[in-house]
Amino acid sequence: MELLVRAGSVPRALELVGQQAEWLTERHIEFTHIPAPTFGEKARGDYFLRLFKKLKLKGVRRDRVGNVLGELPGAAPPRQRGLLLLTAHLDTVFPSGRPVEVRRANGRIYGPGITDNGAGLAALLGVARALRAAGLRPRHSLLLAATVCEEGEGNLFGIRHLLEQPDIRRAVRYVMVLDGADTGHIIAHGLASLRLRVTVEGPGGHSWSDFGMANPIHALAAAVTRFSAAPVPAEPRTTFNIGEIRGGTSVNSVPFSASMKVDVRSASALEIRRLSALLERTVSQAVEEENQRARSGKLTFRLEGIGERPAGSLPENARLLETVRAVDRYLGIQSHIERSSTDANVPLSMGIEAVSLGGGGQGGGIHSPQEWYDPAGREIGVKRILLALCALAGVDG
Ligand SMILES: [Zn+2]
Repeated sequence: MELLVRAGSVPRALELVGQQAEWLTERHIEFTHIPAPTFGEKARGDYFLRLFKKLKLKGVRRDRVGNVLGELPGAAPPRQRGLLLLTAHLDTVFPSGRPVEVRRANGRIYGPGITDNGAGLAALLGVARALRAAGLRPRHSLLLAATVCEEGEGNLFGIRHLLEQPDIRRAVRYVMVLDGADTGHIIAHGLASLRLRVTVEGPGGHSWSDFGMANPIHALAAAVTRFSAAPVPAEPRTTFNIGEIRGGTSVNSVPFSASMKVDVRSASALEIRRLSALLERTVSQAVEEENQRARSGKLTFRLEGIGERPAGSLPENARLLETVRAVDRYLGIQSHIERSSTDANVPLSMGIEAVSLGGGGQGGGIHSPQEWYDPAGREIGVKRILLALCALAGVDG
């Protein structure tokens, strides 16, 4: 590390990271204003397309699914060049149609998606700008990607598509995913998850004249009450969440349909299977009981998978992990290994070395309307990514 920080234009790039803080925060606020719900990232993608061109990255383009790409060709002869992929997801969990408000108060910036994944996207820009401005070209090529469809039902579609491209798949050696702000962790394990939609249906009718008819909302509510009391182990850590519930059309109708979306996560694929089986039994029982109680109408139900994220782990002795740890020692960052569900799940499940890192600074209130970001300390996060990148891609001199 001592050698690397003195090599070639690395010192200049590190210096530039310190000098571009205000520029980066301005861009960060600028693109946070552009709504980017999952499946609706086009406008924010346009912004990154323009900026990638301005930074004079090579091969700036949008791929078939909407990922925005830019390259920094490696300095090594073409035959010896590998590829490093640096990504940050464009999408947020917030629906479009609502104006995005960003405001600054007591050192913090408040706005939906400001940290997840504003912090990661800003770091992607920060690294690209510092490398370009310093004229620093590592030996391997870098592919920078602002990806679509990371959140929720996007189901990591953007990065999946990227890594399915034969030329990328063949050349890629390491993947660094930038997500969130926190520099205290190295996400080296992909958390497996399963998302299900449960739908209960019946004939539906009038609230007065059809009273006693089997009611999908009644059955679904009973299933929710029971399933939400399901015991889960602390180890392997396992969680579930009923995140969305819909049903009915008016207060004076027996509904003909009710549905909910359930997210199940675990460090163990076995626990996920156990919980999804329990969910199915619980719904089946609740529907059965409602059918027995009802004077008319029969309910049916179905479970559909609406997303599945693969698991995968980086071995302790992986070069990528050793490199990030060495950078952390050099920068005095106390980091620990964590498991989470990010774009890194996909390369990890394919056996490609990958981590997810925060972009620096601090953030909180993720996925809530009170989401905030504090850029203090962003510099060290961007330097960390830049140094890890240079160590892995090699620098001449
Ligand atoms: Zn995220």
